[in-house]
Amino acid sequence: MRRDELRRFPCGLSDAAMLTLTGILFSASPAWAEPVPGSLPAQWNIGAEDCAASPQPPLQVHTYEPQTFILRQSPCANFEANFIYLLIGSDKALLIDTGAVADPKAMPLAQAILELLPDKDNKKLPLLVVHTHRHLDHRAGDPQFASLPSVRVVPVDLEGVRAFFGFDNWPNGIAHLDLGGRTVDVIPTPGHNQTHLAFYDDRTGVLFTGDFLMPARLLIEDAGAYRESALRVVDFLKMRPLTHILGGHIELNAAGRAYRFGSHYHPNEHRLELAREDLTALPAAFERFNGFYARYPNYILTNSVHTLMALGFIVLVVLGGAALGLYRFLRRRRRRRA
Ligand SMILES: [Zn+2]
Ligand SMILES: [Zn+2]
Repeated sequence: MRRDELRRFPCGLSDAAMLTLTGILFSASPAWAEPVPGSLPAQWNIGAEDCAASPQPPLQVHTYEPQTFILRQSPCANFEANFIYLLIGSDKALLIDTGAVADPKAMPLAQAILELLPDKDNKKLPLLVVHTHRHLDHRAGDPQFASLPSVRVVPVDLEGVRAFFGFDNWPNGIAHLDLGGRTVDVIPTPGHNQTHLAFYDDRTGVLFTGDFLMPARLLIEDAGAYRESALRVVDFLKMRPLTHILGGHIELNAAGRAYRFGSHYHPNEHRLELAREDLTALPAAFERFNGFYARYPNYILTNSVHTLMALGFIVLVVLGGAALGLYRFLRRRRRRRA
């Protein structure tokens, strides 16, 4: 896992020779290979109005391209309806998040992943399980992987994340996971949650963003850190191809309206994939943010703590006004009787 972003040059060359070589390399060939194309379904599993009356499989498995799988947890199995990503390299595989359901009977995630993993040397390919962040809906399935051979689960706490990826100046620096013929860059993106990471896959040119950027409510814990993260990712991707931004949830319909919190039914669901414009617009959206709520076509910025505090204040003012009105009414009535 290299922490620097410098490309390595052949040893034994002088600085001048390396500079010349750099010039030739950059002018002779494009810096980044063409991403492997993939497909996305027009419609994911949207749950049901009455889940009991219309049973459905807990997991939808979609092959984006032969080495990249997208798994969607059914909104009926859990309202969070997480998206989980499996990336296969020639030496190991990477699972991004384990979703919102722990019980393997209700959600056989580990079994589904093992079925997708190819064999190498008569054994399943080793698997590394990482998390976009530590919120329970992104790691509830972890125990299903705990006792499997050749599986490593990265810890969810900040210290564990920093130590595993080698971030010694968090949230600065980029880590690199080498899956064999496929490199995934790991970018710290705190703001929604202190431990948040985004993952950039050099094979497909997809950025996996968890709850940092998705067609949903972007819940803000630290607006300053969030904006810095957005700038960091924009800068990282400036020269790189970006095919799609794929996040952890869909909470909006195609018109950009949010489903009721906790809903098991997503009629006319917004598409999962976001584009570079959605990312580049994010820092400015934070500059304009009023600290409570802002709606954009493809996401909603919201600080639920601020909004709850404001609602609490309004409730207090209304209750205070009502109490004062009652006190005056009773005082007037007492005076009239006297
Ligand atoms: Zn979250
Ligand atoms: Zn989430």
